[in-house]
Amino acid sequence: MSSESEKICNITDAAKISSLSADALVTCGRCGAKAHDPANVCDPVQYPEAGVLGD
Ligand SMILES: [Zn+2]
Repeated sequence: MSSESEKICNITDAAKISSLSADALVTCGRCGAKAHDPANVCDPVQYPEAGVLGD
């Protein structure tokens, strides 16, 4: 896997999106995509209340 900088915002593969958004720590300020790794969204915004959203 060498897609560490791939932006979830631009991915259409639902399985890959699901994988990248597991245990999401950030959300995208532009499109609202969720991701575990800030590198995977175009405008990473830390969850203000990490853990509150659960899964
Ligand atoms: Zn985005």
